[in-house]
Amino acid sequence: MKSVDIANPNTWVKFKPSLCKGCWAGCCTMPVQVSSEELYHMGFIEAHQVNGPLKRLAQKLIKMGIIRSFNSRTRLFRLKQLENGDCVFLDANRLCKIYENRPSICRGFPFNGARPGYCPSQRKKEVRRVLKNAQECGEEG
Ligand code: SF4
Repeated sequence: MKSVDIANPNTWVKFKPSLCKGCWAGCCTMPVQVSSEELYHMGFIEAHQVNGPLKRLAQKLIKMGIIRSFNSRTRLFRLKQLENGDCVFLDANRLCKIYENRPSICRGFPFNGARPGYCPSQRKKEVRRVLKNAQECGEEG
């Protein structure tokens, strides 16, 4: 089977909904930008905070571990990612903790992604096996 490289959309596979079952959720390791309106719909800020001051709001959201950064030119917030790239809202089973309120970019994926209609689908089992092997090799070396 051709291996998928999340950073290289040319290796992605043609999307079909059945691919999501048992998937590693590589799509949730890519940067996600949201507006203040979306943060409101996600339940993280109050309605009166939507129109600013957004810089101050961003500082608060960074401290809360919700976002990683704010771009004052685009007025978009980038959701926090863990060191391995995982979105902070991904749970231990690699499912979205805020699925019902997830941002629009997540709802629209893969049709709004780097390669519309294609996704970096990888089986959870397969990725876990590769990570385990890599870890064991690291321990031996
Ligand atoms: S908000 Fe949910 S769906 Fe969107 S990237 Fe994070 S874990 Fe994935």
